[in-house]
Amino acid sequence: MSKRDYYEVLGVSRSASADEIKRAYRKLARQYHPDVNKDDPNAAEKFKEINEAYEVLSDPQKRAHYDQFGHADPTAGMGGAGSDFGQGFGGFGDFGGFGDIFDMFFGGGRPRGPQRGQDLEYELEIDFEDAAFGVEEEIQVPRMETCSTCEGSGAKPGTRVERCSVCNGTGEQQNVVNTPFGRMVNRRACSACRGRGVRIPHPCPDCHGTGRRRVRRTVNIRVPAGVDTGTRLRIPGAGEASPNGGQPGDLHIVIRVRPHEIFEREGTNVYVDFPLTFVQAALGDEVEVPTLDGKVKLRIPEGTQSGTTFRLRGKGIPKLGTNARGDQHVRVHVITPTNLTERQRELLRELGKELGRPPQEQSRTFIERMKSAFLGDN
Ligand SMILES: [Zn+2]
Ligand SMILES: [Zn+2]
Repeated sequence: MSKRDYYEVLGVSRSASADEIKRAYRKLARQYHPDVNKDDPNAAEKFKEINEAYEVLSDPQKRAHYDQFGHADPTAGMGGAGSDFGQGFGGFGDFGGFGDIFDMFFGGGRPRGPQRGQDLEYELEIDFEDAAFGVEEEIQVPRMETCSTCEGSGAKPGTRVERCSVCNGTGEQQNVVNTPFGRMVNRRACSACRGRGVRIPHPCPDCHGTGRRRVRRTVNIRVPAGVDTGTRLRIPGAGEASPNGGQPGDLHIVIRVRPHEIFEREGTNVYVDFPLTFVQAALGDEVEVPTLDGKVKLRIPEGTQSGTTFRLRGKGIPKLGTNARGDQHVRVHVITPTNLTERQRELLRELGKELGRPPQEQSRTFIERMKSAFLGDN
């Protein structure tokens, strides 16, 4: 169900004054009060909507927040039944049948269901090869766990937990405030028992009565082959324990892959730069290239130009969850020799004479290419 705009609900403009909002609200509240409007089956829903709108627009701070963020922020509105309504309000006394309205909105004593434990996030840094082929990692996760001494009850072993007499076990306190519209009821967590509904005369010494303890827990992680930086792995139930007997949260592992000295990665493909002497490039050679699977022989054909890429099929990274693998691309670079001996210089000079300038054909092609690169294709 999409929420209606609060101004629209009250039928006022966005620039309406506090008085205009109050007047509009009073009129609508009388009109749609469920005790008055027994014929309209939607009256209760409508009345609730009106109250919610007024609750936000009558409060300058909440109104400003709503103007800026709209319904996007859950703290802007009342939350609605079932959600956390620590700061919400209950109902209206002077309209009569206050208790009924209250019950209608919030289901009366609204039992607090067990809360799920919080999810945790852990960043795991792994090596390039481990990301490619998978790895088992043991990590230390600090998390809240159910106290093993008292098994989560919070009571010292051999003693008992009692019902909180302040809130009568409901975990909530009601606070009635008189306003121009009648009595408003605030409900908040009971301060005596912090919302747990119980009193612990003899708290467990290990968790101080909270029922949970922060523990550094060793968790074994199976990282599958093919993960990359940003891959998320979910380990159900490995998050924090519930504060009141609900399901534990999940643990989310976020992978970060350490860069490799020589390999680069793009998806499932691996790139590596490989140096060649110009003699190897000119005459061809068979070289040994490093891959994730160890050294692999690669034939360099005669007359290979610097920057040429050779592909080694299936030598890349496995695609996550499959047996398929990417390729390895080997970019060769012809290295210009330095620190030459006098004899080497002599040989090169002689070779230079023999080779002469680059052949006409080749240099013309080069000039054409430059032209089209700068001027576009004709
Ligand atoms: Zn304990
Ligand atoms: Zn209490």
